[in-house]
Amino acid sequence: MPTYEYICTKCGYEFEEFQSISAEPISICPKCNGRVERKISAGAGLVFKGSGFYITDYKNKENKSGSKKPSNKKSDS
Ligand SMILES: [Zn+2]
Repeated sequence: MPTYEYICTKCGYEFEEFQSISAEPISICPKCNGRVERKISAGAGLVFKGSGFYITDYKNKENKSGSKKPSNKKSDS
């Protein structure tokens, strides 16, 4: 289970919460009841299991190829 980092947008209070991926993110600051946002740092791959992961993968591919080659990746078969 990843550890999520939160920061309060109201009072700036930072804290970490050990949660399962399926757990609901915390949105209320335990100190001032303000709004907290989850900080994404290390296990970003896990957090962005959905669409975010796909976008990152796509960007990486674009970066690597450099020169624009037409769909020419059938070297696997
Ligand atoms: Zn707060």
